Amino acid sequence: MNFLSQLTGSFSQPCAENPTVAMVEAAFRHHGLDWRYINCEVNPKGLGDAVRGARAMGWRGFNCSIPHKVAVIDHLDALGESASIIGAVNCVVRREGKMVGENTDGKGFLQSLREKIEPSGKRIVLLGAGGAARAIGVEVALSGASRITVVNRSDQRGYELTTLLRDKTPAEVEYVSWNHEFSIPAATDIVVNATSIGLFPDTEARVPLNLESLTSEMVVADVIPNPPRTRLIRDAEARGCQVIDGIGMLVNQGVIGIKYWTGVDVDPQVMREKLEELFGTPTKTPS
Ligand code: NDP
Repeated sequence: MNFLSQLTGSFSQPCAENPTVAMVEAAFRHHGLDWRYINCEVNPKGLGDAVRGARAMGWRGFNCSIPHKVAVIDHLDALGESASIIGAVNCVVRREGKMVGENTDGKGFLQSLREKIEPSGKRIVLLGAGGAARAIGVEVALSGASRITVVNRSDQRGYELTTLLRDKTPAEVEYVSWNHEFSIPAATDIVVNATSIGLFPDTEARVPLNLESLTSEMVVADVIPNPPRTRLIRDAEARGCQVIDGIGMLVNQGVIGIKYWTGVDVDPQVMREKLEELFGTPTKTPS
């Protein structure tokens, strides 16, 4: 008999609406893992104490989300490659007693993308330049995307991401200021909405794109997990594009995080079903 569960969890603020705990615990249960995931409300002043507490209690790792993704780095022992380029950590893993920061945002996206298309050698339009866009841009660039067009509303953030990608990755990168309805260049292979446009409750918000410029050869991905069938996804489907919803990215981050912590490859479908149950959407979404 062993009454000591292995502990993981999440530090963020606010955290009450973060569904990751339900998704991860569904996977732990499905695979018979005696592990727990504890969703903790941690304010910025308490972050150092929270990480020290996790160390003292032998936690195997934890996720961190807004507002801790950058600040947590000061409390860790080492960083993985993409986390160090992105400059943000959302998953901490205890390896040989050391707390190592990884970034699974972009890796989760990449895994979803690869189910449809291999990014190597492809031309990508990346809408947005915030945290999600940064993580996605770095991962697709490190995976060999040949050209990335960053499109953003605020130029300062747009330039920062463009400079980061140019300096730290081999991709060719251009920047377009998003002050008009953007037309996707004809040679584009992959379009990614990495903005927060369309997130619940503003579900009918429209990404300012010239829909006529979307062609059926393009893959269109949206990071918005709630609701997964965003207006962009529906518009792109109507234009004949292959589409990728934001649930895949969220689920794959869970899969990668659990693999880091436990070494077990968990079934993504169990986690997708749990999220779809929570978000009240049909189980059948594009795979
Ligand atoms: P940030 O706040 O860091 O960035 C938001 C981005 O959206 C910025 O580029 C911002 O532009 C842009 N934006 C917001 N509103 C508009 C608008 N009306 N018109 C044009 N651009 C706009 O957020 P994150 O990058 O952290 O998150 C973005 C989204 O990604 C969130 O909705 C989040 O839910 C989702 N996400 C999904 C994940 C998943 O696993 N599926 C994982 C992580 C995030 P500007 O710079 O001009 O303000």
